Amino acid sequence: MTEVTASFQNRLRDTSPSPIEECEEEPPSSSPVTITQYPAAPLAKPGKIVRFPTHKTGVSNPFVRSFRKRFYPSVTAKLWNDWRWQVSNRIRTASQLETMIQLSEPEQWALNNYDGKLPLGITPYYLSLVSPTDPEQPLRRSVIPTPEELIKMPGEADDPLGEDCQSPVPGMVHRYPDRVLLLLSDFCSTFCRYCTRSRVVGHGGINPSRSRLEAAMEYIRSHREIRDVLLSGGDPLMIGDDRLDWILAQIRQIPHVEIVRIGTKVPAVLPQRITPQLVKILKKYHPLWMSLHFIHADECTPEAYRACAMLSDAGIPLGSQSVLLKGINDSVETMTALVHHLMKMRVRPYYLYQCDPITGSIHFRTPIEKGLEIIRGLRGFTSGYAVPTYVVDAPGGGGKIPLMPDYVTGYENGDLLLKNYENKLFRYPDGSCSTR
Ligand code: SF4
Repeated sequence: MTEVTASFQNRLRDTSPSPIEECEEEPPSSSPVTITQYPAAPLAKPGKIVRFPTHKTGVSNPFVRSFRKRFYPSVTAKLWNDWRWQVSNRIRTASQLETMIQLSEPEQWALNNYDGKLPLGITPYYLSLVSPTDPEQPLRRSVIPTPEELIKMPGEADDPLGEDCQSPVPGMVHRYPDRVLLLLSDFCSTFCRYCTRSRVVGHGGINPSRSRLEAAMEYIRSHREIRDVLLSGGDPLMIGDDRLDWILAQIRQIPHVEIVRIGTKVPAVLPQRITPQLVKILKKYHPLWMSLHFIHADECTPEAYRACAMLSDAGIPLGSQSVLLKGINDSVETMTALVHHLMKMRVRPYYLYQCDPITGSIHFRTPIEKGLEIIRGLRGFTSGYAVPTYVVDAPGGGGKIPLMPDYVTGYENGDLLLKNYENKLFRYPDGSCSTR
């Protein structure tokens, strides 16, 4: 293994303060146990779906259990399932990482030459789902840097969606007339290498300070057209319960705000965060919706099932915003497995996002045709509810633009000519087009 220098470790280290009030200091047990042998291939090969048994309360993923026993032998199940422990013990340096997984040469190179905007950060739970030996495993590719991250291709930008130009208050984006996006903090327990907000996420510049949030509330109060407030980040659920309760209460006191939405990846990377106490807080503020962020069936563990069940049982409608990622989920088979898991988790596959052209994203971006092929492979072949809307977020701030395979092939003698999911042609007598 390459010796990792202290200066590069510092560059990679997540320096952003954790917004969790209760765990500002690392506990003494935060250093993972160093081992000399790797576990024997406990995870799926690339493209192969790990199938977990039907969800049962109290049953945890066997890979997660064996990972805990191997690397954290003194950590009890109770501590492991404490989200604060998971956040305090997230893996943040290459030297920590290489005690647990076999880094490939490109990964080592990327970690050694990292100049990065986005820090390294992975919860022990999520790392337990990562293959220790296979650099191409989908979840591993999503959280461990590779050299392509350092390459800027034409058309890529740090802020491709132009959010900074549509920000009337620090950390707020007002793009659409009737809704605003409010970033509560820039902190995430696990950083996704394809993050659209990698220019700010993990940098410690956006925090849930009372003065900033009060300015945001004042803006919402004074814009009566805002009926929908989306809380995002970073991950808004990384904020402690009391602060989150205060924020939600403030928003709910604004009469013209009809719905509140929370965008979070917590059920996938830190399902332990979904506690009875958190759910009790959230359910006070209905109508409250949640947009989750699953990218692959390997994330749909019993722990994730349990977290989603708790949210659903609290009456919170759940949707998943999945990003289409090359080599991670860009096949009909992989996406079908994901949407089927989501349906069983009571999470509606909501959006399939074309990966934004952020700086260093060439290895994640697929051609648009790939997204259309996936939608074609889902529509008609599975439940309509399981088919997400495929969207491109228009560079420069144009908003989400839906893309659909072309099922209309033309008009003939007043009939609309249509192709069904099996590519068979049908005619629909469309009166409105009789003059064509
Ligand atoms: S959880 Fe969301 S905000 Fe955080 S790194 Fe991943 S994509 Fe970015």
